[in-house]
Amino acid sequence: MARRLKRNGVLHSDWARGHVVVAADGIEICSSFVRCCDQCMERKVAHKVGDELRDDIQYYHRIVAVMVVSTAFPIPLGIRFQKDGETEVSSTLVLLHDLKGQLGCQFFDLVVADALYLRKPFVDEIEKIG
Ligand SMILES: [Zn+2]
Repeated sequence: MARRLKRNGVLHSDWARGHVVVAADGIEICSSFVRCCDQCMERKVAHKVGDELRDDIQYYHRIVAVMVVSTAFPIPLGIRFQKDGETEVSSTLVLLHDLKGQLGCQFFDLVVADALYLRKPFVDEIEKIG
């Protein structure tokens, strides 16, 4: 579907001079001290329960997303749940490699991301992806 949208010019934008621009970012979702699932990531967090400060295990998920942002409205291309031991940046690279496999390396022209991504390994890998 994404390839068809591009072929039909739906992803074209004037402000991006015809380039398809994607944004990559990560976010934490579903954090809880009580509820968890088999896929939850865990961390120890000091938090207040009443007047008591306790160290408890907090369960959470992190996802990374890549979205086309050069269009009139953002179009999600892919999301990925970050796994234990991965960073947001490494998880995003896995997602970008997956998207390259599904859409080809010429599907988008530019990747924008926040300063967290401005590291040599990320830039090197983006260049390898093409
Ligand atoms: Zn969970």
